Amino acid sequence: MNKRPEEIFNFSETSDACIKCGKCIPVCTIHNVNADEVTSPRGFIDLLGAYKNGKLDLDKNAKDIFESCFLCTNCVDVCPISLPVDMIIEQVRSDIAQKFGIAWYKKAFFLLLRHRWLNDLAFKLGWTFQTCGFKIKADINSMSSRFNLPMLKTDRLFPSLMKTSFLNSHAENINNGGKRKVAVFIGCLANYNYKDTGESLLEILKALEIDAFLAKDQKCCGAPAYFTGDFDTVDANAKFNIKYFESFGEDIEAIIVPEATCSAMLKIDYEHFFHDQPEWLKRAKKLKDKIFMATEWLQHYTHLEQLLASKKKDMRIVTYHDPCHAKKMQGIHKEPRNLISKNYNIVEMSDPNACCGFGGVTMQTEKYHFAKAAGVPKAAMIKKTRADVVSAECSACRMQINASMNYADVKTVFKNPIELIAEALRE
Ligand code: SF4
Ligand code: SF4
Repeated sequence: MNKRPEEIFNFSETSDACIKCGKCIPVCTIHNVNADEVTSPRGFIDLLGAYKNGKLDLDKNAKDIFESCFLCTNCVDVCPISLPVDMIIEQVRSDIAQKFGIAWYKKAFFLLLRHRWLNDLAFKLGWTFQTCGFKIKADINSMSSRFNLPMLKTDRLFPSLMKTSFLNSHAENINNGGKRKVAVFIGCLANYNYKDTGESLLEILKALEIDAFLAKDQKCCGAPAYFTGDFDTVDANAKFNIKYFESFGEDIEAIIVPEATCSAMLKIDYEHFFHDQPEWLKRAKKLKDKIFMATEWLQHYTHLEQLLASKKKDMRIVTYHDPCHAKKMQGIHKEPRNLISKNYNIVEMSDPNACCGFGGVTMQTEKYHFAKAAGVPKAAMIKKTRADVVSAECSACRMQINASMNYADVKTVFKNPIELIAEALRE
């Protein structure tokens, strides 16, 4: 079904260019925590070239190497010839999934992501029993295991579960008496774990007198499955979401997403994914102009900035982390800062663009030692700012940064910029 890496890349030309270059190596997230030429962008390209030429078998060692990329796109960002390293790794992961299968617990997780009712049920059960196995830190929507198990160490922080999801907490149509209306795509982590993001977005829309359509049938964008090579799940969820979005009335001006990864998936990765399904590619492209990150749309299409300027200044210091899927993939970095800076003091960390180290489902499970190591410099740079709040428009970054700060005993609190904006409007 999918294009093979060799159809995207000319490996002999790119390998030659890479040998003389190496510009991406200092910014490569995996190379920084595992300094081996093999686990670097040009190492990956070299191996993919060998695989393409039939000189490399996709064995367990190759699988292990290709699964160690964080898909952070740092390399794509600095590459003078814009090589889409992330795209070719995503493609080869599908071959890996076909050859080796997908671990049972990932399959179970992706099954939940395909069926919202099942997901609702599983999370409700999880909420009921979470205190049996986990200590809850309600103030930061997090929890840590009571027992040391292989993937659940007691010092590791996870997002805690909510009794009722965000989408199930509200009516589908919320009338704010406005002449404008937007649909909200909330994403799974903000729906089930970090509910304050959606609640804050509704508060902002109310203040702006913009009606909200909560699009309750939305399915997971498919990003976790895409980065793991489960292309059947991506195909099913992406087609469902596209058809669903197409059914929205003309009165819906935009689909706004307070999540960098979901937004990048819907807007950019659907196109990559459907590159060899022309009909779906056309439909994905057509929807693209209607999808926005929440701060992007609020900054450019509403008077929120002026409204915030009329509100009080909060003395808290905020530092902003740029999610890879926001700045590097969608060019969104000024918008959240513009809005937050109206009411808070922003102090930049030394490298806001450095990947937090989340890396996806495989990285957070089988290769967590890499994710944990990649989170160390991010926690240290946040600590150095002495900020009260670290913000990023991404719940995956939130999960990873919360865990990294917990290991390093950093007391800074994480908030999505949407939460900070809603707090400023309440003043
Ligand atoms: S996507 Fe990130 S981790 Fe992967 S090769 Fe590129 S820079 Fe390295
Ligand atoms: S920056 Fe681009 S051309 Fe240079 S080594 Fe990295 S992937 Fe190759």
